[in-house]
Amino acid sequence: MKKKIAILGSTGSIGKSTIDILRKDKKNFDVVLLTTNNNYREILKQAKEFKARNIIINNKKHYLTSKKKLRNNKINIFNNFQSFNNKFKSKIDFSMSAISGLEGLKPTLDLIKFSKTIAIANKESIICAWNLIQQRLNKYKTKFIPVDSEHFSIWSLLDGDKSNVEEVIITASGGPFLNLSLNKFKKIKPQIAVNHPNWKMGKKISIDSATMMNKVFEVIEAQRIFNIDINKFKILIHPKSYVHAIVKFTNGLTKILVHDTDMKIPIFNSIYGNNNKKIKSSKINLSILNNLNFIKVNSTRFPSIKILRMIPNKISLYETIMVSANDQLVSLFLDGKINFSDIARLLKKIMKMNIFMKYKKRVPKNFNELINLSKFVRLKTNLLSVRSNQ
Ligand code: NDP
Ligand code: MG
Repeated sequence: MKKKIAILGSTGSIGKSTIDILRKDKKNFDVVLLTTNNNYREILKQAKEFKARNIIINNKKHYLTSKKKLRNNKINIFNNFQSFNNKFKSKIDFSMSAISGLEGLKPTLDLIKFSKTIAIANKESIICAWNLIQQRLNKYKTKFIPVDSEHFSIWSLLDGDKSNVEEVIITASGGPFLNLSLNKFKKIKPQIAVNHPNWKMGKKISIDSATMMNKVFEVIEAQRIFNIDINKFKILIHPKSYVHAIVKFTNGLTKILVHDTDMKIPIFNSIYGNNNKKIKSSKINLSILNNLNFIKVNSTRFPSIKILRMIPNKISLYETIMVSANDQLVSLFLDGKINFSDIARLLKKIMKMNIFMKYKKRVPKNFNELINLSKFVRLKTNLLSVRSNQ
């Protein structure tokens, strides 16, 4: 029987990598849902190629244009998840959650109900609302697989048992500015910052990799998913990005997971599991293995890293403040409104505001509470960045 598949954010970097994997094995998949924000040309191409049953286009104008284009077609088209809900007669076998930012949370929560397995790449949702995600996973008996390469690696290395973990190392490439002289940081241009040396990713996560905020996110993401003490995690810079995670166990064993710098590998494995399928990948690279090279993170170069110390051990609404302020600051940087060094500087300033301290003790209760807080933080971030530029 064909495997029913849904992809949230099918026009993004993770979404397209997922599509590429399905393309090689079309006869075994039935694409029941694809979604995009603006990129209607790409989603229409994908929908026609895979004879997708349903698509969602969030942008109203593009939705209306596309609806006309699909008039004589069997593909159902919707403007949002709400109008689409309950269209599934039987459960989807595999859903990929790959919308970027907190916008991915609501569709992810909604899709869990209809999915046998959900693979989540959208790290912002995991960081801010893991408790809400977990509640729904339990309620609907949906299996969860982490997609972020480090988390997929830890998940594979643990194999369901985290009881004897002594230490976990998450690796970081160091991004494009690992060796840039510090006095040039203020002049970094967005088009240079989005160019990651090892990975091809969306703009937002590429900037987070350049500031090292991505690793702050990943430690929190891993702590929430695996429920391991945050003090057991360490970040090491490994410029080749060949090793993705190292786990040391109390029985003396240490396991290391290596793979090519291609997100298709964790995505492929999340789709097929132990299915004996083959993906094209390079031979074991001895020259890299002989020069693995791990370096400690320098907090003068990457001041964002200090933010990790401000985060509570248990999930709270404070993480929503961090994620939303960072999201807004990255947008302001991409729009040329603040400079690169301002991102970490202003983020720390916002996170230290007295009005936000109470959120360290508040557990997220529902989606609306989280989104309202996120909107407020974005406004505050805009105000602060305007003031700091005057
Ligand atoms: P992209 O920016 O490349 O793609 C995001 C996708 O989400 C696109 O399809 C986009 O549509 C859609 N989207 C964006 N905003 C909205 C919105 N408001 N409503 C509905 N859909 C929206 O991101 P990535 O693929 O790089 O990343 C996706 C997620 O996965 C992120 O959370 C990221 O942190 C995480 N991740 C990514 C990795 C990577 O290698 N790229 C690695 C590990 C994790 P449109 O095309 O119209 O913009
Ligand atoms: Mg990662």
